[in-house]
Amino acid sequence: MPLRSPLYSQRSLVLTLIALLGAGFLATSFLSYYASRASIRDNIVNTELPLTSDTVYSEIQKDLVRPILISSMMSRDTFMRDWVVNGENDPEKMTRYLNEVMTHYGAYTAFFVSNASLTYYHAKGVLKQVKASEPRDTWYFRVRDMADPYEINVDPDLANKDNLTFFINYKVYDYHNRFIGAAGVGLTVDAVIKLIDKYQQRYQRSVYFVDKFGRLVLTGADGGPQGAHIGQKLDELESMNTLISQLPKPHTGSYEYSVQGQGHFLNVRFIPELNWYLFVDKREDGALSEIRQSLYLNLLICLVVTLIVLALLNRVIKSYQVKIQAQATLDSLTELPNRRGFDLLAAQALHEAQREPKPLTALLLDLDHFKALNDTYGHLAGDQVLIGFARDLESCLRHSDIVCRWGGEEFIVLLKDTDGETGLMIAEKIRQHVEQQRYAYNGHTLQLTVSIGLTTLQPDETLHTLLSRADHAMYRAKQSGRNRTCVELSHSRYDYQEPA
Ligand code: GH3
Ligand code: MG
Ligand code: MG
Repeated sequence: MPLRSPLYSQRSLVLTLIALLGAGFLATSFLSYYASRASIRDNIVNTELPLTSDTVYSEIQKDLVRPILISSMMSRDTFMRDWVVNGENDPEKMTRYLNEVMTHYGAYTAFFVSNASLTYYHAKGVLKQVKASEPRDTWYFRVRDMADPYEINVDPDLANKDNLTFFINYKVYDYHNRFIGAAGVGLTVDAVIKLIDKYQQRYQRSVYFVDKFGRLVLTGADGGPQGAHIGQKLDELESMNTLISQLPKPHTGSYEYSVQGQGHFLNVRFIPELNWYLFVDKREDGALSEIRQSLYLNLLICLVVTLIVLALLNRVIKSYQVKIQAQATLDSLTELPNRRGFDLLAAQALHEAQREPKPLTALLLDLDHFKALNDTYGHLAGDQVLIGFARDLESCLRHSDIVCRWGGEEFIVLLKDTDGETGLMIAEKIRQHVEQQRYAYNGHTLQLTVSIGLTTLQPDETLHTLLSRADHAMYRAKQSGRNRTCVELSHSRYDYQEPA
C-alpha cells in the first residue's frame, strides 16, 4: 500500500473540512433563503396583493364610483324627469341644475341629452343637438340602445375644449319606464390618471384597468405594463406572453408570470361598477431583494467562519505536529533525545565538524551493574536513578553538546569543538561526579558508577564507525574493571582511571 505523506493527509483533511463546512453552510443558507422566499411569495400572492387590491378598490369606490352614484341620482331625479316630461321648457332651469351638480360634487362636467329633442344640455348652457350621423355623438345612440343602466366611456369633451374625459352615461327613464335621455357627470382623464399614480406610489405596485376583452382602459401616467398605452390589448404585448397563456381573458384571481426572466405577482379582480378588471402587479425583485441581500450576507459570514475554522485548525494541527515530533524524538523517562532525535542532531554536528573542520569527541556511557541495582531496589528505583543520572550528565555538559539516551542504561554524548584531551577531562569529570552522587529512593541511598568509552571523529568518518569505536572503548572499560574511561583513537588506545 502506498504511504500517504502527512502533508497529503493534512491537505485532504482541510479539503474535506472545506467541503463539509461549505456544503453545510450552503445547504442551510439556501434552504433558509428558499424557505423565506416561498413564505414571502405566499404572503404576497395570498395576502399582500389581495389586500392592496381591496384598498385600491375601496379608493376607487370613493374616487370613481362616486361619479357613478351621482349620475345614478341624476337619472332618478324628479326635477329632471318632470322637466323633460313637461316639454323641456326654460333650458335655464336644466342648465342651473347641471351647474349645481357639477360644482357641488366637484365634477368636471355634468350633462343631460334629451331623447325627445336630442338636445345636449350641460352646466354652462345648451351645447348642441346630437345626430346619429355625427361620429362624436355615437355614444348617445349606443347608450340609448344598451341594456345596462349605464356605461363608462372615455371621449373628448366638446364642452370642455375637447379634453379627454371619463363620462358616466346613465340612462334616464320617465315614470312609465320609458327612455327619455342620458345624464351623467364627467371626470377628466388626467384627474383619473393622477389617482392611479397616487395608488401606484402609495402601494409600490403597478395598477391598471383592463376591460373584459383584455384591452387596457386606464393606466397611470407611465402607461400600463411595459409602458403599454390605453387601447392596447394585453395579448398584443409580447412581454405578457407568459401571463396570457394562463389568462387568455381577464379573470379574477392570483397569478405569477415572468417578463424577461423577471418574476411578477399579479392580482386581478373584477369591479362590477366599472365593468372592468383591476390589475395590481408587483415585481418579484423589489419584494425579494432584502432576503437576497441577507443570503449574500449569510454566505459571506459562512465564508468568514469557514476561513476562521480552517485557520484555527491549521494552528492546532501545526502545534500538535510540533508536539508529536518532539515526543517522537525525546525519551519519555529522562526527556533526553532518543536515538531518532540523536540521529538528526548527530548528523548535523558531524557535518559541521567535518566541514569546518573542528574536533569532535564522542562518549559512550554505560551504568555499571545496573541490573543488580534494579534487582535489589526494584525497577522504579532504577528509573529514578536513570532520571537523576540524566540530569547530572547534562549538568556536566555545555548547552551546545549533544546528549542522548541510547537505550537501557546507555547514553551517548557528542562534545562539539572538543579534542580528545579535553574530552577525556570532561569524561572524567562526569565519571567522578556520578561516583560521588547519591540518589535517594524510598529511604535508601543509592550510588552508582559509570564506564565510559571515548573516541574522536576522524576526517570523512561516518557516525556508525565513530560509535562502534566508542563502544569498543566502553567495552574495554567494562573489561578492565568498570568505573573508568577508556580512550580509543584510530591510531592508539588507552585506558584511563584516576587513582582513587
Ligand atoms: P554492566 O556493568 O556489565 O553494564 O552490568 P549491567 O547490569 O548494567 O548490564 P546489563 O546489560 O546486564 O543490564 C542492564 C540492565 O538495565 C538490565 C535492564 O533491566 C536495565 N534497564 C534497562 N533499561 C531500563 C529502564 O528503563 N529502567 C530500569 N529500571 N532498568 C532498565
Ligand atoms: Mg548495558
Ligand atoms: Mg550496564
